[in-house]
Amino acid sequence: MTIDKGWFEVRRVNHDLWMIAEPLHVVSWLYVGRDRAVLIDSGMGIMPIKPVVERLTDKPITLINTHYHFDHVGGNGEFYERLAGERGGPLLERRAPRDLLDRYLRGFLAIIAEARARLVAEPDFYALTPETEPRDFPSTFDAQAWMPGGVPATGLLREDDEVDLGDRKLLVIDTPGHSPDGICLFDERHGVLFAGDTLMEGGNYVQYDESSMEDLLASVIKLSKLSAPVHAICTGHVPRAIAEETLITDTADALTEVLNGAAYRMDTDIFGYPVRVTRVGRVWVYASDGAATSYPLHD
Ligand SMILES: [Zn+2]
Repeated sequence: MTIDKGWFEVRRVNHDLWMIAEPLHVVSWLYVGRDRAVLIDSGMGIMPIKPVVERLTDKPITLINTHYHFDHVGGNGEFYERLAGERGGPLLERRAPRDLLDRYLRGFLAIIAEARARLVAEPDFYALTPETEPRDFPSTFDAQAWMPGGVPATGLLREDDEVDLGDRKLLVIDTPGHSPDGICLFDERHGVLFAGDTLMEGGNYVQYDESSMEDLLASVIKLSKLSAPVHAICTGHVPRAIAEETLITDTADALTEVLNGAAYRMDTDIFGYPVRVTRVGRVWVYASDGAATSYPLHD
């Protein structure tokens, strides 16, 4: 018997914090304050995300994008108020190239096939981690018509701006590196850091033409000097989307090793491009293979 679980895997992390995962892909976060809620990233646009969010809160919703990449902006058009970092403004108006999306879908189908084989061998493991469980695309999903992106922000956030939710504020921190427009959001009072793709338990993608290992290291060092302790880091991807503060220094250490010429193995990323992969403890760093890679992430 097949149980239709829907496309999103929703997990209540705390009374005011929800993880909205698209299993094996990406994670969006709903953070509910007294006067309004923020949705941090809007997912892939495979299925509408707003109906899911509206089931979780009746507060007015502000969408904030951590960066412009297609897997974080797919639901942007569903929301009236859309904020992004200053450098993300012009990038959000572009769409991901068709070839990149097709490469992603091909790579993803291979990941699903691999996960299904493991699911047979280890069903209990997947029952414990539903956000990494392989799911088919919904029957309504039209891969050829899928075109995330191209929805401009309605407002831009600058470093040190604060987004006020009534009983708490989110501080805006510029964190370029994975992409040039990355931002993190920090609730100093509760110690919750929304990191987008700037911190990642597992693969840190720093292999794009637009990525900068040096910038990412500087951003992560900036995060290591926040004015208050970090109790939870909410990242943008599975498998372990929520992490503890030590991920910051572990990531800084790993990036430093890569910049110092650490050993790597060759692999291919989800788009099928060759990458250099260095693992340092819990952190994997993906770096460009130089001339062999090309990542046109937007038209
Ligand atoms: Zn990204």
